[in-house]
This record gives sequence, structure tokens and C-alpha cells, in this order.
Amino acid sequence: MVENIAEEIRAVRIDDACVICGGCALVCPTNALMLEDDGIQVKLHLNPQDCISCEACVDTCAHYAIDLDWVDSVAGIVAESAWVYCRGCGERLANRAEIDVMCMQLAQAGFSEELLEFTANFCTSCKYHRAGILKR
Ligand code: SF4
Ligand code: SF4
Repeated sequence: MVENIAEEIRAVRIDDACVICGGCALVCPTNALMLEDDGIQVKLHLNPQDCISCEACVDTCAHYAIDLDWVDSVAGIVAESAWVYCRGCGERLANRAEIDVMCMQLAQAGFSEELLEFTANFCTSCKYHRAGILKR
């Protein structure tokens, strides 16, 4: 009699704290985690079948967003975010998920809405050029 073998395997699970920094993909020895960047979106791909449960990704994540678990074995995109570009000069700032986390931390530190708006949309150089607003 043929046994019905479960489709689940032990591999990584990514949660909402992920800011798609790519650190885990960088250290993954099997490319089970891979980053895709087309200049508009950055996406983190997971192929659970290639995961060897080494935990290198878990150890490297500064956001505690990744852990090993029994997961569905279907490969696909596990996190994605749009790139944000400076409204002043067009330089790439960071992805939306990273900026949201930074703004949340600055808001907790007492930054005004106006300063948060600048931080979320302008590079350091362009912020200095608008120093009249920043000094308020
Ligand atoms: S899981 Fe952690 S290390 Fe990997 S992309 Fe997300 S935040 Fe970065
Ligand atoms: S546990 Fe190891 S093999 Fe699996 S995704 Fe993380 S770094 Fe890659």
C-alpha cells in the first residue's frame, strides 16, 4: 500500500516584520532564498525544496522576521515592496517597507509629521537644500 506523504517540508517562514533587505538571501548557501530587483519592486523568493534548514538566514535577520517551520512546499514570492526614489533628485532611497519602519521609529522618538514626510521622500542632500523647513 502506498502511503500518502505530506507535502510539507521544514523550511523558512517569513513574517510581516521583513523589510526585504536581502540579508538572508545573501547568506543562503543553496539559493533557496533569492532577491529579485527590477528597479521598481524588490521581491524575496523562497523555494522551500532547496532549503537545507541550516538557519544561516535566521541568524542574520536583524528584524527577527524569519524562522524555521513546517511550511507548504510551493515556491514563490514571500515578501515584496516598491522602491522609493527621492522627489528632489531621483536618487533611490530605500524600499517602502524599510521607510515605513524608519518613520515608525522616528514618530516614536517624537518627530513631527512634516519631518517624517521629508524623511520618507527626500535624500539627505535634498533635505539639506530644504533646511529652512527642517530647522523648524
Ligand atoms: S527576512 Fe530578515 S534578512 Fe531576510 S529580507 Fe526580510 S528583513 Fe532582511
Ligand atoms: S535555512 Fe539555510 S538553506 Fe534554508 S533558506 Fe535559510 S539560509 Fe537558505
